[in-house]
Amino acid sequence: MSTVALITGAASGIGAAVARRLSAGGAKCVLLDLDGDGAGRVAEEVGGVALAGDVSAEETSRRAVELAERTYGRLDLVHLNAGVTGGVDMNAFDLARYRRAVGVNVDGVVFGVAAALPLLRRSGGGAIVVTASLAGLVGYDGDPIYTMTKHAVVGLVRALAPPLAKERIRISAVCPGFTDTPLVAEARELFVGAGFPLLEADEVAAAVESACYADDTGNLLVVQPGRQPVAYRYAGVPGPVGGQRPPSP
Ligand code: NAD
Repeated sequence: MSTVALITGAASGIGAAVARRLSAGGAKCVLLDLDGDGAGRVAEEVGGVALAGDVSAEETSRRAVELAERTYGRLDLVHLNAGVTGGVDMNAFDLARYRRAVGVNVDGVVFGVAAALPLLRRSGGGAIVVTASLAGLVGYDGDPIYTMTKHAVVGLVRALAPPLAKERIRISAVCPGFTDTPLVAEARELFVGAGFPLLEADEVAAAVESACYADDTGNLLVVQPGRQPVAYRYAGVPGPVGGQRPPSP
């Protein structure tokens, strides 16, 4: 029985690299992207199926999970990866841009988790990996709204890990630094000119793949150029997973 993976934002960059890696390892992939043609091309390459949709609409994630069930009968891995930059200037606030960033980066992940859980349970458990960012762990002043959205999904992962572990569902996040994908295309020359190293999408995909198949849960994997991924640890706060449950705030 093959492992079945659902990947969002799979037409490009990190998501497409994850689709290539997981399928090379034998997984069947369901690829979701706003860019349906792009997702279709990657699906053709990896022998998977694709659908077009906007993750900020709740029904999109449900449709993707239904496609996984209809095509492959189960779901084991979910990579919630679709994302956009914030690009909101706090001094010239643009409500539509703000809603877009929160809709894709936060709602898209929340809807993805909610839609996937029933089929993951029916499949006997599995793993969810969220693409957060280094900006989910540190304040990135270049894009405060993006930073906020990525902190939000890190919080979701941390809070859901202990209860989901009881159902044999693991959840973790990868937190990459700047990665050479179309998302950062505008700033690419600046980075290169300054000698600033960028990650390759496949380096992040390798971390996602290892998170998919890891035994533990609740990890926030920091991915940076030239270093092995390392799980981030918060200092001075109660331990999240396997330790005592912190009191409710
Ligand atoms: P990318 O632009 O190459 O890929 C993002 C994909 O998401 C695109 O195919 C796009 O069409 C899709 N997408 C965007 N909005 C969508 C929506 N509403 N519904 C469905 N699909 C949608 O960029 P990437 O760098 O591969 O980004 C993947 C993830 O990695 C994002 O969550 C991003 O925030 C995160 N990330 C990127 C970097 C970086 O430097 N590139 C660093 C850290 C984290």
